[in-house]
Amino acid sequence: MNSPLITVRGLRKTYGSGSTAFEALKGVDLDIHEGESLAIVGKSGSGKSTLMHLLALLDRPTTGSIRLDGVETSSLNQAELNKTRNRAFGFVFQQFFLNASTSVLDNVTLPLTIAGVPARERTKRGLAALSQLEMEDKASNKANNLSGGQKQRVAISRALINQPRVIFADEPTGNLDSVTGAKVEDILFDLNRRHGITLVVVTHDEGLAARCDRSIFVRDGLVEPKVEAAAA
Ligand code: ADP
Ligand code: MG
Repeated sequence: MNSPLITVRGLRKTYGSGSTAFEALKGVDLDIHEGESLAIVGKSGSGKSTLMHLLALLDRPTTGSIRLDGVETSSLNQAELNKTRNRAFGFVFQQFFLNASTSVLDNVTLPLTIAGVPARERTKRGLAALSQLEMEDKASNKANNLSGGQKQRVAISRALINQPRVIFADEPTGNLDSVTGAKVEDILFDLNRRHGITLVVVTHDEGLAARCDRSIFVRDGLVEPKVEAAAA
């Protein structure tokens, strides 16, 4: 097999310090291969979002190693991390995180604005991303005036705008009814299967986890060993 896209070793994360210190991750090892879909499952408070935030370079570990394409990310400065994240990753969150007062198009093109892409190209690529999600006709709407499912489509369009290698989704269907949630799932798996985008999904939803190539279970800040591995 090819070397992993993301290699995690001995990952620990402590929030706070002194008497209020809380160790949310206690030594996680994980390999993620390009093109796979991986579910991160576990109870609320187990450390799933913390793990995803570290994998996505949204936060730094207390100790441990995350290599992306063989590059040790702890050796990158903040500007390099931001650039890597903006270029390689797309994000879909339960809470959508859209700017309610600006247009759908402006929301979708935000990563391009951050990257300094000129306005004309932003618009072109933004409309292309929206049309992939059949949301082109909503480009000039205020993000506020959309249903939950439409908001998540806008968020997925934004996640796609830089042609990411990985989409990180944290409870992407958590705020959607089951029919709308199923459509959003279909979109994410279509992007994974047809476009080869690696999908890392944090979820409580067993059905969603079962659709992924593989699941890891997080409990009290550790990835539980697989039952099969113990039997082997
Ligand atoms: P999950 O996504 O599995 O519900 P999280 O990764 O969000 O869990 O949180 C894991 C643990 O770390 C929880 O006990 C949570 O309260 C704690 N935690 C998360 N973020 C912070 C933070 N910024 N400061 C302090 N504690 C945090
Ligand atoms: Mg969480």
